Amino acid sequence: MKNLLKNFFIILVLFILISGVFSMLGNPKNTPKIVSLTELAQQINNGQIDKITVNDQDLAVSLKNSTTTEASTKELESGLTESLKNYGVDPAKLQQVQIDIQQASGWKYWLSNIIFPFVLPLALMGLFLWFMMRQAKQGAGQNFGFTKSLARLIMPEDKKQQTSFADVAGLKEAKQELDEVVDFLKSPGKFIEIGAKIPKGVLLIGPPGCGKTLLARAVSGEANVPFFHISGSEFVELFVGVGSARVRDLFQNAKKNSPCIIFIDELDAIGRQRGAGLGGGHDEREQTLNQILVEMDGFEANNGVVVLAATNRPDILDSALLRPGRFDRRVMLDLPDINDREDILKIHAKNKPLTPDVNLRQIAERTPGFSGADLANLVNEASISAARQNKKEVHMSDLIDSIEKVLLGPERKSHILSIDEKKIAAYHEAGHALVAASLPHTDPVRKVSIIARGQAAGYTLKLPEIDKHLHSKTEFIEELSVLLGGYYAEKLVFDEITTGAGNDLEKTTDLARRLVMRYGMSEKLGPRTFGETEDMVFLGKEITTEKNYSEHVAQEIDSEVHAFIDNAAKAAQKILTEKRALLDKIANRLIEKETIEKEEFEELMKG
Ligand code: ADP
Ligand code: MG
Ligand code: ZN
Repeated sequence: MKNLLKNFFIILVLFILISGVFSMLGNPKNTPKIVSLTELAQQINNGQIDKITVNDQDLAVSLKNSTTTEASTKELESGLTESLKNYGVDPAKLQQVQIDIQQASGWKYWLSNIIFPFVLPLALMGLFLWFMMRQAKQGAGQNFGFTKSLARLIMPEDKKQQTSFADVAGLKEAKQELDEVVDFLKSPGKFIEIGAKIPKGVLLIGPPGCGKTLLARAVSGEANVPFFHISGSEFVELFVGVGSARVRDLFQNAKKNSPCIIFIDELDAIGRQRGAGLGGGHDEREQTLNQILVEMDGFEANNGVVVLAATNRPDILDSALLRPGRFDRRVMLDLPDINDREDILKIHAKNKPLTPDVNLRQIAERTPGFSGADLANLVNEASISAARQNKKEVHMSDLIDSIEKVLLGPERKSHILSIDEKKIAAYHEAGHALVAASLPHTDPVRKVSIIARGQAAGYTLKLPEIDKHLHSKTEFIEELSVLLGGYYAEKLVFDEITTGAGNDLEKTTDLARRLVMRYGMSEKLGPRTFGETEDMVFLGKEITTEKNYSEHVAQEIDSEVHAFIDNAAKAAQKILTEKRALLDKIANRLIEKETIEKEEFEELMKG
């Protein structure tokens, strides 16, 4: 819009300049005195006139013995002499005047009769339109209509936006897979000669924040080709038919720019299993999806357009998308392991001044389960907090504090507990921590605190020492006890329950149900899963669980869930009663200091 306005002004100024020049051409510098025909007739009779030049109906009159000129107009229909005679000019005097009749000269005639009224405005309009078209073509993000794809385009010349594999830490296998695509985009000839078909579609699959979008951009950076980036949700809009029109437009655009990459982010927004809709709204999504399938079938392999797509829900994608010839290549991206985490931290800390004591390896050790986005966020939070304290460098403490901030939300120091509440919160957290520390298969306690953070009134932070990919039944059972530790500590000490344990109980129930229904960890019900979860379009979450078992089994499930929780509760209660003195000690320390770090906590446990 801004550019449009600018161009409009440029054209306006041009217009004024041009018309200025022409009007100057038309008017000689010493403007003649305008006289009427009657006056002119008088002057002729007086013998003052030397010469009259007739140009159309304009008369240029030069006087004898004078440099001044006069101008006049004759009547249109009649000739000059005739007109003058009508005004009573003496014919003898008129003969002494030199009369010079000029054809309306060529270019002036054209100028005044054709160019000014017709050609110039047309040319200006054309110019204006041309400017607008050019804008629209350049138009990353600038559109006329709904049906233009909303794809953002990153051209290889745009160095600021360029991303390369060096900006992506870890993800080695994924990079290797995509190297092939890069190679193809760089030198397609090599593949075509040997008759190889490069996949048209590559699907990047991984949990949120693991770097799918980043990696896709890096591929275009490495191959040095244009990158069309659009998010699945942008296809879908209120107007029917718009989504598929956008797909068509996007693919057309891409073909013009080949070799290039089309990246459809969050494919699951349009690529869900068809026919799983709620109400009528899914029709539009289906149309869009169909159009993508049609376009992908429509272009030949090796025409230089590679479609990348990303999703974190491959399970709900329409199977037609995964057929050969479409997204038949799948690249899995995992959450980073400890080495990757260190590398990611390094990448994001690169342009930030760090104190020499900063040890990114230690941060990586403390952040299992963090995604790349979490780590990027962590480094950013650390530098924000350093800046707010007017430090010139980011300290190790800033980074460590940010771990919890990213994990649990910011501290809510203003959330002040009354003395009674503080006591309850302290025993609650001490209960979690004590049970966790007393059981052999739980993650070590890193920190216990009764400072409110995010949603939680207090928290016990446990983190595994190494990255874990599998979890055993024993671990889960102990985890249930830890979750119930807060509840039973309150019950034991105050003989009362507060609402503070509500969230723990939800988690406990959920975990116990998963043990029975998902993981086959119940002895009685054996190795099978119960209930088929189906996704509801738009709500995105699993909200319906289809019951694929009998009422009788439902009762068994309930009793098994109950048994798991009951056993876990007994174990927790046993620990808490046996180690009551230790519980008091931890709780008192919490009331006093509000936060206990790992080392201090371990000392308390020993003592
Ligand atoms: P996704 O698309 O998988 O949800 P993104 O690619 O948008 O995740 O990642 C979000 C941000 O996290 C990136 O912009 C980047 O700063 C950071 N990030 C994620 N993974 C990595 C990685 N492997 N290396 C470097 N930075 C990463
Ligand atoms: Mg993304
Ligand atoms: Zn709790």
